[in-house]
Amino acid sequence: MSSRRTGRSPGTPAGRRLLAGGAAAALVFGLGLAPGTAHAAESQLPTLVTTENIRSHMENLQTIADYNGGNRASATPGYDVAAKYVIDQLRRAGYKPVKHTFEYDSWAQNSPAVLAQTAPEEREFTVGEDFDAMSYSTGGDVTAPGVAVNADSAESGCSADDFAGFPEGAVAVVRRGTCPFSEKTQNAADAGAGAIVIFNNEAGPINGTVGTESAIPAVGATQEAGAELLAAGEALELRVAVDAQVTTRSSYNITADTKGGARDNVVVVGAHLDGVAEGPGINDNGSGTAAVLETAKQLAKLDTPNNKVRFAFWGTEEEGLIGSTEYVEGLSERDRSRIALYLNFDMIGSPNYARFVYDGRGELPGSQVPPSGSAAIQKTFEDYFDARGLVSEPTEFNGRSDYSAFIAAGIPAGGLFSGGDGIKTEEQVEYYGGTAGEQYDPYYHTADDTIEHINWDSVEELSDGIAFAVETFADSTLPVNGVLRTHQDQEFSPERLGDHWLR
Ligand SMILES: [Zn+2]
Repeated sequence: MSSRRTGRSPGTPAGRRLLAGGAAAALVFGLGLAPGTAHAAESQLPTLVTTENIRSHMENLQTIADYNGGNRASATPGYDVAAKYVIDQLRRAGYKPVKHTFEYDSWAQNSPAVLAQTAPEEREFTVGEDFDAMSYSTGGDVTAPGVAVNADSAESGCSADDFAGFPEGAVAVVRRGTCPFSEKTQNAADAGAGAIVIFNNEAGPINGTVGTESAIPAVGATQEAGAELLAAGEALELRVAVDAQVTTRSSYNITADTKGGARDNVVVVGAHLDGVAEGPGINDNGSGTAAVLETAKQLAKLDTPNNKVRFAFWGTEEEGLIGSTEYVEGLSERDRSRIALYLNFDMIGSPNYARFVYDGRGELPGSQVPPSGSAAIQKTFEDYFDARGLVSEPTEFNGRSDYSAFIAAGIPAGGLFSGGDGIKTEEQVEYYGGTAGEQYDPYYHTADDTIEHINWDSVEELSDGIAFAVETFADSTLPVNGVLRTHQDQEFSPERLGDHWLR
């Protein structure tokens, strides 16, 4: 999961799903499956995809990180060796994996950013606590008057009008909300600002991105820091310094298709293979990678699916969902229209986990609007957990993982998630155990995201859900996109007819 937000506020958690014990038990013997998915009622894949095998992939990814600088970040040896491992595993299962290479702008800081009030009083803010550089902020060191820009409004800095009469070279102080950070920053630059401070509209630090290199230095600050700057009034003077640059790098995704299955109705199942530079990334996202890889290996042992299944291991997710975005944007219109749906698995072994299902119905306030059919994917996962007597809850499509580009392209999307930097509630402890008031993954994006901190119950429950959904949609995507392909369709494929003619 990517840490960087683009500027819109996240939503609030909503309704859990919990069946009374009796109803749950009854459902085990009669999964309420949609017409056309009857085959999946006798699903085999959840039994074949074992936690033991997933665990061994995760241990191998840990070893690869340990011997290659401690991480598997994009454009590092750790990523390359992990990719070789995935490719080798796929080949041995009979797949022909393909590498898709792309170039991207990598942003790196040479020294920590500075935010300080230089007048009326001097005040230093602490980087990483009170503020942080926006990723893709351009470098620069500016000391100038600080000017609030419509800072009481949620739309602060979202229009050029907000900057009417803005003093040349001043530091714009704006509030988070409504439009992306990049838009506020560009408006400030257009108005002649020397730098911008965007303060949060809720508790916690801003961990934001301006997406592509900004014209002026940009930092995100806490709500409290913002309040202090506003309280200083007209005499406010600030220093904003960001020491960073953008360099062009290259990386790649890996995809592998099942041999059989309808080529015009493809089920894409993805996990990001890269991690952050801070650690080995075994939950984020060794867990999703391992589960998708093992699902691919086991699916290859079953009968030819009705629909083609494409397993995808995305590169450079952590630097802005780059691999998946490059992939979707690089598809021809025809190839894009052939994708029935996208399933995303990014973090399934969180230490303090929850069973989250992506919000395909678009019910949560922080969700991107999902394309039609996404609700059917959500229901597939929810019904699966219900049938096992397990609580699940919806989670926002908040734009922080690889489903984003698929949703933007109109492709129905869904998936599972065991939680990241959100905080577990008392109520959730009743459903999943764990500790209230702590992050779902206290080691998220740290050196301690290791094999020792994985919750294996989480891996087991969520990976079973993954296997179930992949087998279900490999069989039929009727409830998602109205397309019904049967094994008979394939008997009449040109290759088969060719065989007849030769005899
Ligand atoms: Zn992440």
